[in-house]
Amino acid sequence: ATGLTLQTAIKGTPDSTVVIVPGSQALTVTYKDLISETASFQQKLAAIGIAKGAPVSIATVNSYEFIVSFLAASWQRAIAAPLNPAYKQDEFEFYIDDVKSAIVLVPKGAYQNGSPAVKAAQKFNSAIAECYWDAAKKEVALDVKELGQLKGKSKQPILKPDPEDIALVLHTSGTTSRPKVVPLSHRNLTRTMHNIQQTYQLTASDRTMLVMPLFHVHGLLCGLLAPLLSGGSMVVPTKFSASDFWRDYTTHGANWYTAVPTIHQILLKNPTPSPLPTIRFIRSCSSPLSPTVFHALEKTYNAPVLEAYAMTEAAHQMTSNPLPSVGPRKPGTVGLGQGVEVVILDSAGAPVAPGAEGEICIRGENVTGGYLNNAEANRTSYTAEGYFRTGDQGRKDADGYLVITGRIKELINKGGEKISPIELDNVLTRHPAVSEAVSFAIPDEMFGQEIGVAVVLKPGVKLVEAELKAWVAEKLAKFKVPKKVYFTDVMPKTATGKIQRRIVAETMQKQEG
Ligand code: ATP
Ligand code: MG
Repeated sequence: ATGLTLQTAIKGTPDSTVVIVPGSQALTVTYKDLISETASFQQKLAAIGIAKGAPVSIATVNSYEFIVSFLAASWQRAIAAPLNPAYKQDEFEFYIDDVKSAIVLVPKGAYQNGSPAVKAAQKFNSAIAECYWDAAKKEVALDVKELGQLKGKSKQPILKPDPEDIALVLHTSGTTSRPKVVPLSHRNLTRTMHNIQQTYQLTASDRTMLVMPLFHVHGLLCGLLAPLLSGGSMVVPTKFSASDFWRDYTTHGANWYTAVPTIHQILLKNPTPSPLPTIRFIRSCSSPLSPTVFHALEKTYNAPVLEAYAMTEAAHQMTSNPLPSVGPRKPGTVGLGQGVEVVILDSAGAPVAPGAEGEICIRGENVTGGYLNNAEANRTSYTAEGYFRTGDQGRKDADGYLVITGRIKELINKGGEKISPIELDNVLTRHPAVSEAVSFAIPDEMFGQEIGVAVVLKPGVKLVEAELKAWVAEKLAKFKVPKKVYFTDVMPKTATGKIQRRIVAETMQKQEG
C-alpha cells in the first residue's frame, strides 16, 4: 500500500526545476515554487467554500495554472474534473451536468467572451472563475466571476487529503458506449505513479516533453504525476505542435516523451532533428502501435520504443514493454503487468488455457472502486475475485507478454463468425497504398452484421475497392473480406487522436447517405 496522496507524493528537492513552460508565456518553476503556489491556490479555493467532495472542473489548456489548480483541488479534498477546453457548448453541458461541477475554471477572457464553458456553467449554476498565470503578481490567479451555487457558502478550513479520498473524476472516451464516469482516489493515482516510475526507472534527472492533454489519464498520470513522484521535471507547451516539438525538446533538455501513435506518426512525417537529441526512451500508449510505426520510430530516433496499455478505470497504465536493461521489447504486444495483476478469463470468469484468448482482467490498487451512478456497469465489471473486466480481448504469449486482439464490444459478428477489426486493420494498413484503415460492423440483412472498412489512401495513389478486397482475400479467410470499402480523406478521431470505431462507422454510413 502506498498510503500516499497527491500532497505527499511530490518528491522533488525544493530548488530543482519541475515545470518549464516554453514559448511566449515562458516560465520555469522549482518544486518549492510549485508547492507554495499550490498551497496559496488551495487557500483561494477554501475561501470561496470549496471543501471535501466538491467537483472542480478545469477547462484550461496544458499550463502551469492547470497543474496548480489540479493539485490544489486535490489537496483541499475536492475532486478535480478536467474538461477538454475545446469542447462545444453541448459537450460542456453534458460533462458539467454529469459531474455536477461546483465551479468551472476557464482561461482569462473566457467570461467576457461568453465562452461555451461559461455558458454551460451558467446553465447548471456552477461558480465560474478565470484561472491564469498573472505575470505581474507572479501568481496563479483565481478571478471569480460568478459564485453560482457557492453563493452564501462560508470560508472553509484548509484540509489535508486522505489516500481514500476521490481526487479525480474523468470520463472514459466513449468508444464503446456513452462515456462512463470514473472516480479515482489518491490511492489509485499514487499507485499508478509508482508503477510508472518503476517501469521506466524515472529519476530526478529525467525530463519529459509533455504533449498529451492533461484532461485525460495519459497526460495527467504519465506526463505530470509520475514525474512529480520521481522528482523529475517536464516541458509543458500548451498543446502538441509538430513543428515546435523537437525545438522545445532540445532547447529545454527533455530526455523522454509519451504519446499516442497518431502523434508519433505525425513526428515521423516531419523533419528528423539533427543532431538527434538525447532520447532515453519513447513511450506509446492508448491506441495500438503498428509494428511498422514501432520499427520506423526506433530506426529514426535510435531509441527504444516502449508500448504500454492503459485505461481510465485503471488510472492509466496496466502493462508496458520493459526498458532494454530489463527485458526485450516485443512489437505488437503491450508487454507485462507492472504492479498490476493481469489475467485472461473466459466469459464465465474462469482462467483460459495458457496462450488462449479471452477477456483481459486486472487487479491492483490503481483500479477504480467503481463507476459513478452506474450500478449496472459496476455489477458486470468486477468478477467475484475482484478482477476488473477491461472489455478488451487478448492473450499472453509464451513469455507472458500481453497481446491485445480487440475489444469484445467491437468484434464484428457476421452470422456467428467473430471477426477482429484490429486484425483486419493491420492487414489493410500493410497495403502499400493505404495510409489508415478502420474496420467496423455494418448492418446486414443476411448476416446480421457485415464488414465495413474506412480507408484513407496515401497522397497521390489510386486504388479501387476490388483491389483492396483481393489483398485481404490473399491474406485472410474469405469470410473476413470486407463487404464495403468507404474511401475517405480524413479519419474521424477524438481529441487525443483515438479512433472511435462507432463514430467512424456512423460517419461513413452517413456520408454515404
Ligand atoms: P469507453 O470505455 O467509454 O468505451 P475507451 O475504453 O476508449 O472508451 P479509455 O479509457 O480512454 O476509453 O481507453 C481505454 C482503452 O484504450 C483500452 O480499454 C483499450 O481498448 C485501448 N488501449 C489503450 N492502450 C492501448 C494499446 N497500447 N493498444 C491497443 N489498445 C489500447
Ligand atoms: Mg473503456
